[in-house]
Amino acid sequence: MKAGITTTLLHADRRQPIEHGAVHKPMHVSAAYRYDNVNDLVAVFQGTRSGFSYARQGTPTTAALENKITLLEDGLGTVSFATGMAALAGIFTTLLRAGDHVVSSQYIFGNTNSLFGTLQALGVSVSMVDATDAGAVAAALRPETRLVFVETIANPGVQVADLSGIGELCAEHGLLYVVDNTLTTPYLFQPKRVGAGLVVNSLTKYIGGHGNALGGAVTDVGGFDWRRYPNIHDIYRNGNPASWGLTQIRKKGLRDQGATLSSEAAHRIAVGAETLALRMERACHNALGLARWLAQRPEVARVNYPGLASHTEHRRATSCFRAGGPRGEPRYGALLSFELRQGLDCLALLNHLQVVILSTHLGDTRTLALPAAHTIYYEMGPERRAQMGVADSLVRVSVGIEDTADLIDDFEQALMKIQSDAGA
Ligand SMILES: *Cc1c(COP(=O)(O)O)cnc(C)c1O
Repeated sequence: MKAGITTTLLHADRRQPIEHGAVHKPMHVSAAYRYDNVNDLVAVFQGTRSGFSYARQGTPTTAALENKITLLEDGLGTVSFATGMAALAGIFTTLLRAGDHVVSSQYIFGNTNSLFGTLQALGVSVSMVDATDAGAVAAALRPETRLVFVETIANPGVQVADLSGIGELCAEHGLLYVVDNTLTTPYLFQPKRVGAGLVVNSLTKYIGGHGNALGGAVTDVGGFDWRRYPNIHDIYRNGNPASWGLTQIRKKGLRDQGATLSSEAAHRIAVGAETLALRMERACHNALGLARWLAQRPEVARVNYPGLASHTEHRRATSCFRAGGPRGEPRYGALLSFELRQGLDCLALLNHLQVVILSTHLGDTRTLALPAAHTIYYEMGPERRAQMGVADSLVRVSVGIEDTADLIDDFEQALMKIQSDAGA
């Protein structure tokens, strides 16, 4: 019998031998690993024997976390990185070359947008299209297109990409499909189900979940035939083709670029991940409650949340994401954004919040809010913000696991205060 997510996570470590019967995988802090017989060391270097050599390429602690992410994503293997951005850079810089083309969603995380700028300066061309429509992705394909990249739910507009439509398109054209699953996590959605090849998770967000460790992961979920990919170096083109892509990412992306996840961070993330399902359930429940409440407030002009019937991709989200509730209610993630009606000041509103923390970051146990255009999307400029649908008054809320009523009460008292400020 296949265990559920939480049971799997709680018992994954002890399925491998752990010293002294420890229940947690220990934090291995050694930089180097020794072998009694030098032939074994040679075999580890040559990849004919599994093992550890130098901690920049991983430790038993990071490997235990990678195993858990692989189980969560139902994948073939995972490479962990120091951050989610390092994971993305690890994919793009090792799999793309000058002259290659990428199709990306125009609705993406600000730093990923900036990373695509770096790639463009190195000779990779990038088309940013409306990925809520697979037809727009199809229209952007070129003979030199190597991969298609989307996020499941985009931030801060919470658009939901046409995940299965793009998967079919990639399968039809033999293209690598890379999905950033950070906002949904494998608890709400497994990109494998829609034909993804590689899945990225920022472990800093919901998977670690407590805002106390940075990390990222790339998982090969088996949807892509690496024999079709031209940019695999000859040295990695041997053995089982299913492992070629991840081997290149581990060697060229992790080993050579060196953005390695520390064992300390891996340990914190693994402990945090044990409650992923519980936290996601609670945070999604809170987000739906808060979104519905905000939507009926006169001070609020617009609420973006895939769980509202007014959201353009509401039906898609309902069919794609986990039905986790006691009566099989669908779950829509824990990120929402909203705009105040004209004349009300979102900065003033934020300053009146008492429970909600004014902070960037998302996927924490605590509810966090910030003015998106003034902060995380400031650097990209007004034109690109308009293309992404980031209005100047847009407030992004990463909903945590507090008691629902306390969140609603906090927004209520803050909205009343700006009403009276505006009336005064
Ligand atoms: C935060 C985030 C990242 C980057 O992750 P870090 O761990 O902060 O580097 C990538 N993609 C998405 C969708 C994110 O929200």
